[in-house]
Amino acid sequence: MTSKNQKRSTADATRRVEADSDYYGDHPIAVKPAPGLPRRAASETVATLRDCVYGQAVGDALGVPYEFKPRGSFRCSDMVGRGTHNQPAGTWSDDTSMALAICDSIRETGRIDTADMLRRFREWMDWGEYTVDGLFDIGNTTAQALRLGRGLTGERDNGNGSLMRTLPLAFTDATDDEVRAVSAITHAHRTSTEACVTAVEVARKLAAGEDVRSAARAVNPSLVDIIDGDAPRSGGYVLDTLHAALWCLANTDSFEDCALAAVNLGDDTDTTGAVAGGLAGIVYGIGGIPAEWLEKLRGKGEIESCLF
Ligand SMILES: [Mg+2]
Repeated sequence: MTSKNQKRSTADATRRVEADSDYYGDHPIAVKPAPGLPRRAASETVATLRDCVYGQAVGDALGVPYEFKPRGSFRCSDMVGRGTHNQPAGTWSDDTSMALAICDSIRETGRIDTADMLRRFREWMDWGEYTVDGLFDIGNTTAQALRLGRGLTGERDNGNGSLMRTLPLAFTDATDDEVRAVSAITHAHRTSTEACVTAVEVARKLAAGEDVRSAARAVNPSLVDIIDGDAPRSGGYVLDTLHAALWCLANTDSFEDCALAAVNLGDDTDTTGAVAGGLAGIVYGIGGIPAEWLEKLRGKGEIESCLF
């Protein structure tokens, strides 16, 4: 953390301190967009990046204590600490860290710059940038790709490591090819890149006020069968995570129920929680997240410092 704070500018540090006491949105912190920022016009969205990222961070933090626990072997009903990674309550993981690195890159460069994103991912992996108090969780494909400097392309490299960080792109005008390129920094197989494109397209429709069924139908009609079916698998495979997150959103009617449903599916609880939480944040807004969960959420200053 010390190295991180040293690398950040004084202005960033000041903004982060201010942000700690000011995260509910009544007095949003003014961040001047960089010229050419590929940002969605206000008329295109009801939800904001902030709704999405807080939803993701809360869903992630809810799931962290239960990661790898099989479905039915536990019951999550609140934001608690310890468990799998022995973290304090409210600690989010790699999913949110990488999403924040993408946000921070867009905030600073004003564009989709995958070389800059790779550099920030490495700062996260090597130095604990974009964490609450250090890295405790990283996927195999992600770690290998970041060391190599190129995304992996094997059939078995389709974990949810790029899907879990892709939702902020819904709040930019990134093209499908740019969304694919951001996935391919680590996850370059077509299954992963297309899952990210699907997630961003659905998220944009949700952000514009469409309901989840019509959004899913418009993007890929086969998604409707999945969300109307039985609870999907919720392991680390990218399509399982995408389907499980959409299923939770479609089969609940509040942020709280959606995020808890995602975690209680078991297995990759933090990532399913992160993606479902990000989507639910878009639908219900930051105001729909239980206040006690926002209170417990750690690293709110770090989150605020990265939003664009
Ligand atoms: Mg994680």
